[in-house]
Amino acid sequence: ESKRSGSHGWRLHDSSMTDRRTRDAALADGLLQAVGTDQLSLLYQPIVALDTHQPVAVEALLRWQHPQLGPISPVEFIPVAERAGVIHQIGMTVLRQACAQVQSWRTEIPDLGCLRASVNVSPLQLREPSFLPDVLSILTEVGLPAESLLLEITESAIVDEEIAIPALEALRAHGIRIAVDDFGTGYSSLHQLTRLPVDVLKIDRSFVAELDGTNRGAAVAEAVIRLGQVLGMYTVAEGVETAVQATELQMLGCQVAQGYLFARPMPAEQLADFARVAATSSAPSGTIS
Ligand code: C2E
Ligand code: MG
Ligand code: MG
Ligand code: MG
Repeated sequence: ESKRSGSHGWRLHDSSMTDRRTRDAALADGLLQAVGTDQLSLLYQPIVALDTHQPVAVEALLRWQHPQLGPISPVEFIPVAERAGVIHQIGMTVLRQACAQVQSWRTEIPDLGCLRASVNVSPLQLREPSFLPDVLSILTEVGLPAESLLLEITESAIVDEEIAIPALEALRAHGIRIAVDDFGTGYSSLHQLTRLPVDVLKIDRSFVAELDGTNRGAAVAEAVIRLGQVLGMYTVAEGVETAVQATELQMLGCQVAQGYLFARPMPAEQLADFARVAATSSAPSGTIS
């Protein structure tokens, strides 16, 4: 509609752009006020071992309840936070809270003694010179071992090699693990990947969704898993929704996954119950416990 020539089409285009700018400005303003209040909260989605369905990690996922506009998706407000210059502050709050929460589960729940924290990091945070010291001081403050923190960076962030590679190398030198998020949807070349200092490839859920029992459907997921194996990285499948997808991923050599099949992102209070059920339920069919 907006591409149509003529005054009517252009007017529509203009008004929707204005609406977007108005909403963006309102959101940016609202975010500045939301930082540090309970409008921003974290959910935790278990990342499970495919053979036992036990959680090996949790991914922290940010939620924003706007007082007038209601729930806003991070897909919308994270870019706003980046443009408004508050992503570093928000990112550090998320990191501190997620690390503290995971460390408390590790110490209080025997089945979660080895749980890892997976935290999304914006490319802008990597550019901040204080990022590494800030991360290290949070780890010290909350007592979480560096090896138990996984930072998720989207593939497109890593394309900016001069900034990303030294930053990632410094984090890894301290034992922090790095994951490439949404792998396969960005613009990094395979050549680039062989040089990236990363530990984990997260197979984007668009490729998991294609797993339908055919060779063609499995092509990309299989290629990513093999690539990970050859490069010494492990792969985590995102967005697993069906048992067929889980079984096929396991057959392809993927050992860890996350998705609605296992659990939706949940408030911290529900995670202990999830872990208890996972620990006491019998192994999935086909395995002998
Ligand atoms: P992501 O890091 O790729 O996170 C996975 C997204 O997939 C989450 O969406 C999660 O709720 C959703 N998901 C998980 N399992 C399934 C499934 O089986 N099916 C489907 N359809 N979806 C599933 P969410 O929570 O809306 O987050 C969207 C994106 O926002 C995240 O994608 C991440 O890029 C970004 N994000 C979220 N929290 C933060 C944060 O604290 N900092 C930064 N920088 N980005 C964040
Ligand atoms: Mg992620
Ligand atoms: Mg992802
Ligand atoms: Mg994704």
